[in-house]
Amino acid sequence: MKKILPTIALSSMLAIQANAVENPDFNYHVDNFADIEVLRYEVPGFKSLSLQQKLMLYYLSQAAQAGRDITWDQNGRYNLRLRPVLEYIYVNYDGNRDSNDFKAFEKYLKQVWFGNGIYHHYSNDKFTPEFSESFFNSEFAKIPESSLNLKDGESAADLQTLLAKVIFDPTFVPKKVSQDSSQDVVVNSSGNLYGEGVTQKDVEDYFNALKDPNDATPISYGLNSRVVKNNGKVEEEVYHLNGLYGPAISKIIYWLDMAKSVAENDAQREYITKLIDFYITGDLRLFDEYSILWAEDTKSDIDFVNGFIESYNDPLGMTGSWESYVNFKNREASARTEAISSNAQWFEDNSPINPVYRKPEVKGVSAKVITASFLGGDAFPATAIGINLPNANWIRAAHGSKSVTLENITEAYAMASKDNGFNEEFVIDKATSDMLDEWLYITDMLHTDLHECLGHASGRLAPGVDQDALKEHGSTLEEARADLFALYYLPDAKLQEIGVLSNPEAYKAEYYKYMLNGLMTQLNRIEPGKDVEEAHMRNRQLIAKWVLEKGKKDKVMELVKRNGKTYLKINDYKKMRSLIGQLLAEIQRIKSEGDYKAGNELVQKYAVKVDPKLHKEVLERYAGLNIPPYRGFLNPVYNPVKNDKGEIIDVTLDFTETYPEQMLRLSRDHSNL
Ligand code: ZN
Repeated sequence: MKKILPTIALSSMLAIQANAVENPDFNYHVDNFADIEVLRYEVPGFKSLSLQQKLMLYYLSQAAQAGRDITWDQNGRYNLRLRPVLEYIYVNYDGNRDSNDFKAFEKYLKQVWFGNGIYHHYSNDKFTPEFSESFFNSEFAKIPESSLNLKDGESAADLQTLLAKVIFDPTFVPKKVSQDSSQDVVVNSSGNLYGEGVTQKDVEDYFNALKDPNDATPISYGLNSRVVKNNGKVEEEVYHLNGLYGPAISKIIYWLDMAKSVAENDAQREYITKLIDFYITGDLRLFDEYSILWAEDTKSDIDFVNGFIESYNDPLGMTGSWESYVNFKNREASARTEAISSNAQWFEDNSPINPVYRKPEVKGVSAKVITASFLGGDAFPATAIGINLPNANWIRAAHGSKSVTLENITEAYAMASKDNGFNEEFVIDKATSDMLDEWLYITDMLHTDLHECLGHASGRLAPGVDQDALKEHGSTLEEARADLFALYYLPDAKLQEIGVLSNPEAYKAEYYKYMLNGLMTQLNRIEPGKDVEEAHMRNRQLIAKWVLEKGKKDKVMELVKRNGKTYLKINDYKKMRSLIGQLLAEIQRIKSEGDYKAGNELVQKYAVKVDPKLHKEVLERYAGLNIPPYRGFLNPVYNPVKNDKGEIIDVTLDFTETYPEQMLRLSRDHSNL
């Protein structure tokens, strides 16, 4: 709900308007290993910012790096023990760097850097090393004891045994987050958000005792703490200046304070002050006060997130992973999202759902397009392309939310995907492929805008319905609702009327891509024999398969065979829209009435199962293209330019670092824990 991740098709099919890009020779490609490609992004418009704005972005980029070790430690309790050892071996290895063992070791380290620890950022599974344990042991033995950061009473041999187990034993701490609710998800998750020996019941009992069910402004309990058991007593270790992660938090505070000294206006200074106070005390009421001030500041150009925000890494959905986004507003492109959000009520009133489930008054949705200028913590290297915050429901209802689209990141995905052969392999004919080249970029952007700033905010529950009534299908159905809302409105003449889309036929590009992705191409992310699990992927398959089935007798769309390969053929885009409207009405009804039974049936029937034959075909066709399923980004390096008095007179960006150079520099300059 709170962030949009790029889809396979999105990251591989977009064409782009040449004028959107600052430097046509910019090199987006950085590195490639395992299932990952590392890219870099441009920061268009940075040079024309004022010195004060550049300084603020520079200070915020430092604050975004200062917390890196927090994310690493949250992601697993051995990560910060392992990283320096791997990096020492990588830098000092004096054998043949082309040998199989070293190559495999390098691949593993690159995966660990990308995951901010030993788990895959998306599947949450522990990485499997392809180098030998004897290689590790003999290289470990060469590390001087002074470089091992041994704990009191710990020998080098102890650490070696521990780390060998962490790397090579597949049954030891195997999965970062377990979602299998038939078992204790806290005990079975190997991330470090809970202490050893803590059970799900311990955590639930602990917070239930604190919660006041009648509080209209409930605290986000657990957001900034680690629940531990000391001598049988359950307690919280709170993240704050004098608590857990204090040394990293003190650096964050220093740089936030520097940023405050060059803030653009009082509103911005005020929310930075509140955020610093929160970091000093760990008091979650202050975090709520900060969130309100932040959500209500829609005037500033520069904006940032720095804190414990998204809870996807917590099996109980409470503790926030540390992350940072630094950005500034893209004024030109924001005209688009402002046109949409200022017409929010019109979209609500004309939605094809039962009128009693429409919101009589839509309020407080602000939306803008931003240029990302730095990514940190859990948002780095893998990042979202759209964000909607704050997360606290009562703040969203009472004070509204801010929705942003990270346009230069989406552009980088698109530019890096040019001519990758995807269209030739998967799109049915040249005419459709040309249509995608011309219209997919803008319609995909509009889809994200409509999904984030209107889709999630639309509709309402019937009186007395519990917002968690759809249980484990809640997020799949909520994502489907927001996607359907966006898909339904893309062909609407309202988009021409408010000036955000020139061509009334352009929506067909997004329809084609969406259905192709939901029926076929997203299967590239799934291992053979597995079902669809992730909520966004389930939602896309649900919509595509439902439309395929319901449109069968009218031949709205079909999967056809050509030269032994499967292609999507869409025959009737108009009827497709009306089916989308019908499904939106039904899913809104399910949500509004809390109809778990109907929701469960939809998900089980359309969203989960994979046709093994088609799956195999998709994987084979992808393999021929060499398009990595996951991508992420390096950041530019911010270089302050000083005069002979030592004053900063400019800030320039450098884009030349390699992936290992950037990662090793971060460890050298920002190891704060
Ligand atoms: Zn969403």
